[in-house]
Amino acid sequence: MGKSVLTPKNAAPARAERIGFSRTVEGLLCDAVPLERIATECGTPCYVYSANQIRTQYGKLEEALRGLDHRLHYSVKANSNLAILRLIRELGAGVDIVSGGELYRALAAGFSGEDIVFSGVGKTEREMEEALRARVLLFNVESEQELHVLSAVAKRMGAHASVALRVNPEVMVDTPHHYTRTGGKGMKFGIPFDEVLAVARAGVDLPNIELIGLDMHVGSQISQLAPYEAGLQRLLHLRGEIESAGNIRLRYLDMGGGLAVAYELDDAIDVGAFGKAITDLLGSQRLRILLEPGRFLVGNAGVLLTRVLYRKRSGGKNFIITDAGMNDLLRPSHYNAYHRIEAVKQIGVGTVADVVGPVCESGDFLALDRQIDDVVRDDLLAVHSAGAYGFVMASNYNSRPRPPEVLVDGSTFQVITQRESYEDLVRAELAAERQPKGKK
Ligand SMILES: *Cc1c(COP(=O)(O)O)cnc(C)c1O
Repeated sequence: MGKSVLTPKNAAPARAERIGFSRTVEGLLCDAVPLERIATECGTPCYVYSANQIRTQYGKLEEALRGLDHRLHYSVKANSNLAILRLIRELGAGVDIVSGGELYRALAAGFSGEDIVFSGVGKTEREMEEALRARVLLFNVESEQELHVLSAVAKRMGAHASVALRVNPEVMVDTPHHYTRTGGKGMKFGIPFDEVLAVARAGVDLPNIELIGLDMHVGSQISQLAPYEAGLQRLLHLRGEIESAGNIRLRYLDMGGGLAVAYELDDAIDVGAFGKAITDLLGSQRLRILLEPGRFLVGNAGVLLTRVLYRKRSGGKNFIITDAGMNDLLRPSHYNAYHRIEAVKQIGVGTVADVVGPVCESGDFLALDRQIDDVVRDDLLAVHSAGAYGFVMASNYNSRPRPPEVLVDGSTFQVITQRESYEDLVRAELAAERQPKGKK
């Protein structure tokens, strides 16, 4: 009914309806905006995010969880730009923070205390005070000692701290890199499984502490259901023990983040199956379920745009030298992470090359031994899946100003972080008041 013969079912969507990154004769687009145009106006390197892609991911996860009493608390550390935080707040999410700085950002983006859960293995007293003043929904506490310190800080302030215990469920997860596994035995995160009951008992007796939940976070870039199911089963078991031992009722179960997105083609989590599995497990539990997705919401919503500076050959190898380096995108060198890279304008010829940055480190690469478009000087490359743990991990190493961030929304875009200047590099340094000679 009403089908137009002019728009066959499999036709490419019109430019204005495109979401995320797609290709037309104009080259790669972000939503409806050509990346070439952004590079021309904002320079390179430059991070570019699709607002609609973030909305789409949020919608998918919400849809998968609709049978559960739940709330998504976006993990701020994945991408903490204020514009991204505002966008995610408008969608209805809360946040998961891991520092006082992230608390500051969350409040600046308009979140209030009840939207915030505070995680992290090493909270300082100052951070606890700030979070108590903001009346955060709950603290995810990671050790018995932290619980005592939190109690003392809350008591001193005449405040009250709601606490979930972060349990190390001691499940092994298979993530692409061991740095992103957090829920195994002998890791720094969480309270060892067999000590949780004792810590809970202690917590029930501590002043100014109310124990209201349990928490886990088993790792990042997890594409299987089994670690979640195994972890949740262990948490549910503990919940029963704690409730009867302490004569309390736990109201929250925070299952952390970690949902994988596709960096290559098939390593994403099946979010529908994930929703069904946890709904089957938790649907009848009379618990409010919190999730802390980071990467899932923003990972594939961003690219790093970079321009080719040089080509060269050395030791029988091809090198593509780009104007983005490890200081801009650390994941390849830190996690040996794979990021798909393609030319913004179709090249049509391929090569195999190392894609490397200008930083004076052999570990400064974006890709090694990669089948890639045979780009030349001045061509633009898009480094995909750079929306999470990209800009937030950028540094000024080699005194390189950090790149700008751009948010595309349909057919419009705005700079949400300016490119740093040389003055920015020395702003916090006390010798900086003396200007270089010749400058007034
Ligand atoms: C990093 C982190 C997350 C988010 O992880 P993703 O893999 O980005 O989903 C969630 N919760 C905690 C406690 C974290 O440290």
